[in-house]
Amino acid sequence: MNTRQVDVAIIGTGTAGMVAYRAAKKYSQDVVVIEAAHYGTTCARVGCMPSKLLIAAAEAAHSAESTEQFGVNVGAISIDRKAVMKRVQAERDRFVGFVIDSVEDFAEADKVFGFAQFLDDNRLVVKSAPSNNAGDLIIQAKRIVIATGSTPFVPEILKSAGNRLITNDDVFELEQVPESVAVFGPGVIGLELGQALSRLGARVKVFGRSGSIATIQDEQIRDYAEQTFNQEFYLDSNAKVEALENKGQTISVNYRDKKGELVNEEFEYILAATGRKANVANLGLHNTNLKLNSKGVPEFDPFSMQTSLEHIFIAGDANNEIPLLHEAADEGKIAGTNAGRFPDVRAEMRRAPLSVVFTDPQIASVGMSLNQLQADMPDCYAVGEVSFESQGRSRVMGKNKGLLKVYAQHGTGLFLGAEMFGPAAEHIAHLLSWAVQQKMTVTQMLEMPFYHPVIEEGVRTAIRDLSKQLSIGPSLPKNCMDCGPGC
Ligand SMILES: Cc1cc2nc3c(=O)[nH]c(=O)nc-3n(C[C@H](O)[C@H](O)[C@H](O)COP(=O)(O)OP(=O)(O)OC[C@H]3O[C@@H](n4cnc5c(N)ncnc54)[C@H](O)[C@@H]3O)c2cc1C
Repeated sequence: MNTRQVDVAIIGTGTAGMVAYRAAKKYSQDVVVIEAAHYGTTCARVGCMPSKLLIAAAEAAHSAESTEQFGVNVGAISIDRKAVMKRVQAERDRFVGFVIDSVEDFAEADKVFGFAQFLDDNRLVVKSAPSNNAGDLIIQAKRIVIATGSTPFVPEILKSAGNRLITNDDVFELEQVPESVAVFGPGVIGLELGQALSRLGARVKVFGRSGSIATIQDEQIRDYAEQTFNQEFYLDSNAKVEALENKGQTISVNYRDKKGELVNEEFEYILAATGRKANVANLGLHNTNLKLNSKGVPEFDPFSMQTSLEHIFIAGDANNEIPLLHEAADEGKIAGTNAGRFPDVRAEMRRAPLSVVFTDPQIASVGMSLNQLQADMPDCYAVGEVSFESQGRSRVMGKNKGLLKVYAQHGTGLFLGAEMFGPAAEHIAHLLSWAVQQKMTVTQMLEMPFYHPVIEEGVRTAIRDLSKQLSIGPSLPKNCMDCGPGC
């Protein structure tokens, strides 16, 4: 077996691995990236980008169907199910192509193809695919970055769906929008894809188990979201699914409806959106001295990405902490820099938490979550809120659904975070996360400019309410007109 010695070995060439490679190369020429499956990243191939492409098509269909309220009649719309998927695939391939171009810029000698496993704390064996005659390779690395990403977690009960079971790895490969889909899991992926498929003409039912809806922690926002989605497609966040049976071309699902009646319904596919698991189970971690948490994932410091072994770092979805693209990139940079610069390992800045779910209305959370506030500082925070139902600009656009809750610290007035289900949440969440990161107070936020008429005026209403709950500043009349009507 061939052996190679390197300064830094990076396992996985997704977003975290690619960024880690570039960062480590600033400090050492002796860096390798190891990839087991595909170049092109989860985000571009089967994640962020194709899902947003599908959602864009769904939004176009939905807008065309929602014109009547404005007195505009476009007639019956028709959806070309094959053309929808063709555009998703063509644009997806374009994005993947850009990523592959970046990997092609990496020095040839720095790229190793095959599945990496730990033999001990410093040695990896890279198993080449049977079709590749290169043979296995042992890499002796002074430092290692684990950036192996995550894969869909599919519970046993859903596996019985056999050839009718799809995940996000398959859905974007379909030749046409399916006729019907039972989505399991009203998390971020299940809701984004479920709503998009429904708007594109598929009969969709979404089944959950624990009552949760995407990332939402506030009960009132969660109930509001569940009711709103139910106006478009069937969603039961606490469903009782009793049996599945593969019927060849369809899958039959036996479930209790919301009244408790037993229903049997056939679908073309089951889409499992039942969570993701970090790709660490087959990494041979048992051959190392790494300390693992209860899920078998190496323990690590979120500021340096260093594990319990000082020369091993872990970044991106692999560490099971914040499975988001921008976090994977940041973590890859920190891990790669520290691995390259080792032993000078430094804690680096982490950005304010920010997450967006691209449903309609969108869901967003920023800064400290409600669960964190309740656990870490009960009685020390206040809540302000606004409903978007009467909010001027939202109503003008026929997008007047949703709720925003904002949180700040008593005494200091420090803005701590927010949770939202409503219009333009992707933009409002950015604004609010910048306020969190800038450590702004509620008073400072209210000193910022607000144009009229914009959805952000709703944010101001929520912040004013927050200010009132904190007893900061003079109280304002309920219908204040300094911002024009409908703020
Ligand atoms: C449907 C969907 C939608 C999403 N939408 C969004 C969104 O809108 N916004 C957002 O911020 N995030 C989104 N995400 C999450 C985002 O895509 C991920 O957080 C991000 O891509 C993770 O990057 P990564 O580098 O950690 O992993 P990956 O990009 O998965 O890279 C890991 C790489 O490691 C390789 N690998 C694994 N094991 C080994 C091994 N033993 N040896 C060698 N190589 C190995 C894999 O083949 C893979 O190429 C979405 C995810 C999904 C699934």
